[in-house]
Amino acid sequence: MDARCSTPSRAESRIREKPYATRPEIPDAGGARREDDQGVQEMLLTGRGGEGVVLASQLLADTFARAGYWVQSFPEFKAERRGAPISAFLRWDAEEPIRRRYKVRECDVLVAISVAPPPAESVAKLRPGGLLLVNREARFPHRGDYRIAHVPGSRIARSNGILSAEGRPMGNVAVLGAAVRLLLPDGLGCLEDAIRARMGAALAEPNVLAAREGYRLCARQHTVAADTPYEPEPAAARPPLPLFAASVTDTRINHTGSWSLERPVILDACNVCGLCALFCPEGAMRRVDGAMAIDLLYCKGCGICKVVCPVKNAIALEEVPV
Ligand code: SF4
Ligand code: SF4
Repeated sequence: MDARCSTPSRAESRIREKPYATRPEIPDAGGARREDDQGVQEMLLTGRGGEGVVLASQLLADTFARAGYWVQSFPEFKAERRGAPISAFLRWDAEEPIRRRYKVRECDVLVAISVAPPPAESVAKLRPGGLLLVNREARFPHRGDYRIAHVPGSRIARSNGILSAEGRPMGNVAVLGAAVRLLLPDGLGCLEDAIRARMGAALAEPNVLAAREGYRLCARQHTVAADTPYEPEPAAARPPLPLFAASVTDTRINHTGSWSLERPVILDACNVCGLCALFCPEGAMRRVDGAMAIDLLYCKGCGICKVVCPVKNAIALEEVPV
């Protein structure tokens, strides 16, 4: 047993009973199998492609497994990838193997990896009494039949130099530190071990520090009078869908700019080579009158244009206020 996973607690006894390397056998059909799987806890993680949502779900699954739980984790991708809304699911159970084999429809815990507010339709999936964990510097000014906690994941990531290829802070592991504090308070050592097992030494150490800071800076919030229910924005009027879903028209009415947390800004050093336009997955860039133009209706803020640009300081990403 790893001493860092151990304190005199319920989690400790589980670790002793079910060490990582020797899981209990799955009981056969004639054994004392429970009639239901009421002990399963379900988590939905949301964010954008490129923010490490899937990695976060896998690291947390490994953390729970190291602490002796049965786990299950899988992501859901839509047609879009980098920059697009992404979900990942995690289930854990202290006593029994998990037999549910479908995506999480309702959850006990919702973890928003993005700094953007979690999608209202995801918040609506929280079960009464559930937990919402958000990556935010300040409190989330809403209320509902669930508890709320927040952690400054992006600030922690930036201060530890954990940045994406586009220079964006990757707050996923700091948010995991907060999630472990809320769900498995004795499991920080297990999370650290999961991080080290997954990442090389150079990457692991700043991430371990970020996990510890997330654990430390996680704050539960209390409802105040000014808090409001969190409801979806009224849907913008959209033209009717064409009869056949796969068409150019469909793509055009999908205003992916509404997903954007960041937007590119072309700087003076740009030599208008057009490489960014070639790689932009949304076709949102083009040359116009000897300069690069960006269509913000479709730019989803994925940052690929910045990654592929061969010219230093020709393009930057700026945050879109949320
Ligand atoms: S790739 Fe860089 S230099 Fe080339 S057009 Fe795009 S921003 Fe300008
Ligand atoms: S313009 Fe840049 S950030 Fe926007 S969608 Fe295209 S590649 Fe992504």
